[in-house]
Amino acid sequence: MARKKIAVIGIGKISQDQHLPVIDKSKDFELAACVSTRGIGHGDVPVFKTPAELYKAMPEVGLVSICTPPNVRHQMVREAIDAGKDVLLEKPPTQTLAEFDDLVAYGKKKDRVLFQTWHSQYNDAVDQARKILKKEGVKSVRIDWRESVRKWHPGQDWVWEPGGFGVCDPGINAMSIFTKIMPFPVFVESSRLKFPANKQTPVDVEIVFKSGEKSRPKLWAHFNWLEETGEIWTVAIETAKGTQLRLEKGGTVLVVNDHVIIQNPSEEYEGIYERFAKLLKKGKSDMDGAPLRLISDAFFLGARENTEEFHW
Ligand code: NAP
Repeated sequence: MARKKIAVIGIGKISQDQHLPVIDKSKDFELAACVSTRGIGHGDVPVFKTPAELYKAMPEVGLVSICTPPNVRHQMVREAIDAGKDVLLEKPPTQTLAEFDDLVAYGKKKDRVLFQTWHSQYNDAVDQARKILKKEGVKSVRIDWRESVRKWHPGQDWVWEPGGFGVCDPGINAMSIFTKIMPFPVFVESSRLKFPANKQTPVDVEIVFKSGEKSRPKLWAHFNWLEETGEIWTVAIETAKGTQLRLEKGGTVLVVNDHVIIQNPSEEYEGIYERFAKLLKKGKSDMDGAPLRLISDAFFLGARENTEEFHW
């Protein structure tokens, strides 16, 4: 079968690290164009400054992956829908829930396929943890999500602007695992956000969650963006039956009672594009807003503290 033509919009870190190389080796997709305000391309495909220029010049390209920061995503997805495109969105989806809900409704109205990606969900270890929790229930979950902003978002000032999410940009990845594996709905009970005194988004966040479960499982998350010893992306769980689980390395590794059960190389973006191909075949959208809801609620309920200034 012919590969479907796709354009990538926003040729920044994640496009270059993942989207473009994964599309290059995909059996389902063929890169047809790039859209880059800085004129950055890939291989010999045409490069356009704006999506509008792409849509006018290459109407045969039916799909776009939008890999910009979230501040322009709502307007860009609407524009793509209006141009008749099916759309893959990087995370976090949008800056607000109202924008997210609008995209879901607008995509439905215009009969387009929209796919909200959450890359951390594309791991066998996460799927297996979900199955175990469904069977055994949950006594406690402790999420520890620490990394270096200097390594993962070098020089990206948008992360510190209002709506840039701060440490909740990686933290929402943990929320995407959490909402996928939990066998019951969870809610933010309280949160504490630490802001560098010279920035508009938090560098350290603690969240306590609650549920409607009578057993009142203990649910807790800590995100920090100044960890320079390497990434700590761990979800530690005790099931109601007493089994100890650990999802390590961002969800690629599953440890059960101190035995490594699954240890896979990260192929999250391969999984994302395979899922997009399936959704397109079925003509079905997949717009999961649960991780964004939890993060929004952490901001709504957040107690603010100022900490020392952040400088790159
Ligand atoms: P980035 O390096 O800053 O790249 C984003 C790119 O989007 C920019 O290079 C720019 O590309 C384009 N862009 C920025 N502002 C724009 C605007 N106002 N209008 C049009 N285009 C604009 O950021 P990133 O790290 O790739 O992150 C992008 C998204 O991917 C974020 O939502 C992030 O959460 C997510 N993500 C990032 C990582 C990571 O490791 N960094 C991992 C997973 C997901 P051009 O110069 O080509 O126009």
